[in-house]
Amino acid sequence: MTTTVITGIGELVTNDPARREQGGLLGLLPDAAVVVERSRIAWVGPGAEAPDADVRVDAGGRAVIPGFVDSHSHLVFAGDRSAEFEARMTGEPYTAGGIRTTVARTRAATDEQLTSHVARLVAEMRGQGTTTVEIKSGYGLSVHDEARSLAVARQFTDETTFLGAHVVPDGTTPEDYVALVTGPMLAAAAPHARWIDVFCEDGAFDVDEARAILLAGTDSGLRGRLHANQLTYGGGVQLACELGLAAVDHCTFLSGDDVSALESSGTIATLLPGVEFSTRQPYPDARGLIDAGVRVALASDCNPGSCFTSSMALCIALAVREMRMSPAEALHAATAMGAAALDRDDVGVLAPGNAADLVLLDAPSYVHLAYRPGVPLVAGVWQAGRPVVGTPS
Ligand SMILES: [Zn+2]
Repeated sequence: MTTTVITGIGELVTNDPARREQGGLLGLLPDAAVVVERSRIAWVGPGAEAPDADVRVDAGGRAVIPGFVDSHSHLVFAGDRSAEFEARMTGEPYTAGGIRTTVARTRAATDEQLTSHVARLVAEMRGQGTTTVEIKSGYGLSVHDEARSLAVARQFTDETTFLGAHVVPDGTTPEDYVALVTGPMLAAAAPHARWIDVFCEDGAFDVDEARAILLAGTDSGLRGRLHANQLTYGGGVQLACELGLAAVDHCTFLSGDDVSALESSGTIATLLPGVEFSTRQPYPDARGLIDAGVRVALASDCNPGSCFTSSMALCIALAVREMRMSPAEALHAATAMGAAALDRDDVGVLAPGNAADLVLLDAPSYVHLAYRPGVPLVAGVWQAGRPVVGTPS
């Protein structure tokens, strides 16, 4: 059995709660080493105590962090909406309606075209340090196109989410469409999905429709997550808390009652600051949420309309600069909390037994992720113990 020891780690971010007393929120360990055995982490500790291994890799004093866990993306689509982006940047507002443009392009694409497009985006994410990604459907909006979107996504991740309830497609009524989503579409999608999601927003689905769709998904064995309170105040966040969903995403327009519900439910608030950046909307109040005791995750929301970035490092930089998160809070939110938002405890934390998903930064400290915005800092990536980016040596 081949084992690898990574030595010379100037700063190791473990996120291990057992290391918080000395290492703070990120469980930092200076002058550290990690031993990888097949797909798992076998040992973490001070470099001077590192056991021997078959292969040795010297990090050269640089920082190593857990791979990013991007818990919210929409990668199965065709075409782009750069013209819409340009129009928005020259004065037109963002609405949910642009989704229909992508639906037409996605329906017209072949399975092979969709697959190769997702492969390109997943590789782009991996190159920037993302080792776990959730991928939603939602640009098919027919029984056939939602099921095939999820089948395509399943080739790249176990964290697939059925988002048939993205918008009501042209040519049908909301009532008829909810019946389709909770009936034949759910039946066709469920074998390919772990999660069910709804875009609960003006112009998409209201709270009662979202509840009906989420409960139908739960009855089919899926777990729920929700897009809510992105563009307006509304009841979506409280619905997510009431139903005990793993995560509710966006949380840009929140009332005091919404924050209280999040704090007492344990549902994670996933913030997607790339969206506000790309749509010139106000940012969510991350500082207020964290200070109120709400668990906050960060994700990219990579999609062709409201935010076409795949960079978790950009999300961290925005969270620090625009949402007053500390660099440590932002990295923790992009790794351990992203994992929690997917109900995963085997990723996002570097501890023995967990997945060997690691990123070697070309920097002495994780702080550089926010301190050097826009600079590619990923020198190497191991995914399930395999070097997949760079040739760390
Ligand atoms: Zn989204």
